[in-house]
Amino acid sequence: MTLFRAQTIDTPEDPFRGGALRADADAGLLVEDGVIVERDSFVRLRSRHPGAELVELTGGVLLPGLVDTHVHFPQVRVIGALGMPLLEWLERCALPEESRLAEVAYARAVAAEFVDALIGAGTTTALVFGSHFAPAMDTLFEAAAANGLRITSGLVVSDRMLRADLHTTAQRGYDEGLALARRWHGVGHSRYAVTPRFALSCGDELLASCGDLHRELTDGWFTSHINENLDEVATVGRLFDGGSYLDSYDRHGLVGPRSVLAHNVHPTDAELKRLADARTSVAHCPSSNAALGSGMFPLQRHLAHGVPVALGSDVGAGTGFSLLKEGLQAYLTQRLSGPDGVALTAAHLLHLATAAGAEALGLRDQVGDLSVGRRFDAIWVRPTPGTPLDIGMRHATDPEDALAKVFALGTPHDVARVWIDGTRVDGATAPV
Ligand SMILES: [Zn+2]
Repeated sequence: MTLFRAQTIDTPEDPFRGGALRADADAGLLVEDGVIVERDSFVRLRSRHPGAELVELTGGVLLPGLVDTHVHFPQVRVIGALGMPLLEWLERCALPEESRLAEVAYARAVAAEFVDALIGAGTTTALVFGSHFAPAMDTLFEAAAANGLRITSGLVVSDRMLRADLHTTAQRGYDEGLALARRWHGVGHSRYAVTPRFALSCGDELLASCGDLHRELTDGWFTSHINENLDEVATVGRLFDGGSYLDSYDRHGLVGPRSVLAHNVHPTDAELKRLADARTSVAHCPSSNAALGSGMFPLQRHLAHGVPVALGSDVGAGTGFSLLKEGLQAYLTQRLSGPDGVALTAAHLLHLATAAGAEALGLRDQVGDLSVGRRFDAIWVRPTPGTPLDIGMRHATDPEDALAKVFALGTPHDVARVWIDGTRVDGATAPV
């Protein structure tokens, strides 16, 4: 048993539904076999468990592990290519790099970089957009398993309008996906997600095979892109004879509670209604939306329809792995949205970066906050003394003010420790 002593902040109750931020200036969390088994003031908990191994986290704040619901494994090395809209960026920047993952040694190196970057940013759970190559997917699952990372991911399939070397067929995509799922789905912290790249690059036959595989797996996941860029949306409309973007997936049984669609910057009301009815989640990727000029995310409309929303970094169109930065960018986007914007507080941002992501991935009973019964997935944000974040946190007027500073100023450099299932995974040799 390990007793953690820290200032903790989390959002067990959804702030979008009136829930308040939970903050404890001197909390004790007792962790056994990776699970939080008791939580109380440190003094009371210590008196009950005087012999437990003690980890004192002095200064900074302990937060739940961050949850990234949309991040591309093959794109670590192309982050930061600015100045292009989506389709040009894909052609000139992302897809040439994705082709390189055909070589297993290259993919293995990228997988290691990718997992290190996620953990370095404090991300402990992720829905990962995979590679077009099955052997590359094995390298990703292997790298994630070696670190205990909770990942849901799958082979990306397409059969048109990309580079020819990234195309597959319906049968091959199904066979390779099923073989990967049999190797990795439900093994450790890994789960499989059926992953057509987007309706633009997937014909109806291929999407039908994705639906078949999703049904075959019964408890697998589905993810893809939707309504990101106006040119893309118009092209999908033409390719599917004027049907809605969402319907291109929905007609194959791919829209349900185990589905997460990224972006949705330009949805129709009918699509939002269908997403809400299906309990399908949307991964909001604000820095990517800004970097590619995709548009302003209509959060208010998603909330009004009851569509679940979480955060995604969308590396490599997104500008980095930090969910803290995505939270800030979500806030800025809403501030710039005029009367359509939602006034987000630091509590909203933390919820979007933790519990909402866990909910979107069906993991809310395991992670997302620091309550008794949850796995101890946590990060210790402890800025270097003398930095603006350190100064700001020490002079914060209350916990929400301190948390706002974490989102405004925090970077991966401020994430001092990361635990998954109570085990440190941030590369340190010490166990706690
Ligand atoms: Zn994406």
